[in-house]
Amino acid sequence: MARKPATIAIHSGLNQDTQFGCVVPPIYLSSTYNFTEYNQPRVHDYSRRGNPGRDMVQNALAELEGGAGAVVTSSGMSAIHLLCTTFLNPGDWIVAPHDCYGGSYRLFDSQSKRGAYNVIFVDQSDETALKAALAKAPKLVLIETPSNPLLRIVDIQHIAELAHQSGALVAVDNTFLSPVLQQPLSLGADFVIHSCTKYLNGHSDVVAGTVIAKDPQQAEELAWWANNIGVTGGAFDSYLLLRGIRTLAPRILLQQKNAQEIVNYLINQPLVKKLYYPALADHTGHEIAKRQQKGFGAMLSFELAGDETIIRRFLAALELFTLAESLGGVETLISHTATMTHAGMTPAARAKAGITDELLRISVGIEDSQDLIADLENAFRIVTQG
Ligand code: PLP
Repeated sequence: MARKPATIAIHSGLNQDTQFGCVVPPIYLSSTYNFTEYNQPRVHDYSRRGNPGRDMVQNALAELEGGAGAVVTSSGMSAIHLLCTTFLNPGDWIVAPHDCYGGSYRLFDSQSKRGAYNVIFVDQSDETALKAALAKAPKLVLIETPSNPLLRIVDIQHIAELAHQSGALVAVDNTFLSPVLQQPLSLGADFVIHSCTKYLNGHSDVVAGTVIAKDPQQAEELAWWANNIGVTGGAFDSYLLLRGIRTLAPRILLQQKNAQEIVNYLINQPLVKKLYYPALADHTGHEIAKRQQKGFGAMLSFELAGDETIIRRFLAALELFTLAESLGGVETLISHTATMTHAGMTPAARAKAGITDELLRISVGIEDSQDLIADLENAFRIVTQG
C-alpha cells in the first residue's frame, strides 16, 4: 500500500548514514567530491550538479507528489523558469492563467517580449477562451489552482484532458495547497511546481522551488538543464527544506482548521463585505475544490467595508497578524493585495481580476485560533469605535 504524505515526509532520507548511524541526515556542504582514481568520479562530482542532501529532499518531494523525479531549485521562480527553459523553444506557446502569480506573469511576459517563447494569458475557467488558446497548439499549459488572492479554482483533470488532446504538456503550480491537500499528477498533470518557500518549508526562512515530473525521462531533462543553467538549490537550503517538510502534514492540517474557524468568525462580521474561501458553498469553485482537493487550505481573503483610513487602522490594530507578503509559514500573515502582492498590476488590470483596494489576504498560521480570532475582534472593535 502506498504510504501517506505524513509518513513519507517523516521517513524520507532517514537512517541513511552508514558511517555514524545518524538518524537525521547531515548537511553536505562540500562543493566538490574527490575522484576515486583517474577518470573515476563517484556518484557526485560537483555540488551544482548533485548534492546528497539535495538528492534526499528531491526524493521526498517526488514521492510526496507521486512523481518519477524532482529538481530542487534556488526559488519558486527559478523552478518555473527551469520548466520553460527545458521544454519551450522560440516560437512555442505557453498558456498561463490570466490571474497567475505576479512573478510568473512578469517572467512569461518579459521572456515572450525577448522572443524566448510566446505566452497567452487566459481565464482557464472560460471553456471557449481556453479552447481558443489551445487551438494555437501550445507546448505547455500552466495551471494555478487555487489562485492568488481570490482562491479561484479550476478543474485540473478537465483542463489536462483538453491540453493533452491538443498535444500540450501540463504543469500545475501547487504552492497554495501542497501535496497533502492536492496531488495534480494523479489528476493528469505532467509536472508539479512549488514555491517551496511557502508551505513545504513552512518556517519563512528558506527561498526555494521545485519541479516534479511524472515521467523519468522528463525528470532527467529537467535535472540536466538545472545543472546547465545553474539554478539548483544550495546544500543548507536543501537541509532546511527537508527538515521543514517533516512537519508539513500536521502544520497544514492545523492551519486549515484555524482558517475554517477564522472564516466562521468573519462570515458574521459586519465590516466584512466579501469573503473568499473555497469551503464556502457560494464560492465559485466550491464543487470542484470538494472533488479535487483533500481540504480547502489555509489561505483566505476578504474585503473590508471602508476606505484607506479604516484599512490602515485595522492593520495597525492587529497584533498577531504580521503585515507581510509570502504565505505558508507557521506564523499568520496578512497582506493588502493592491499595495503589496499585486502592486505591479495596473489598477485596471486589478479591477479586471476582481481585486479591489479593500481586499486583504490572510495566510493562517498555527497559533491558537481563539487568540487569532480575539485579535481580529479587537481590531474590528477599534475600527468601529473610530
Ligand atoms: N508560485 C506561486 C503561487 C507563488 O505564490 C510564488 C511566490 O509567492 C511563486 C510561485 C514564486 O516563488 P518564490 O518566491 O519562491 O520564487
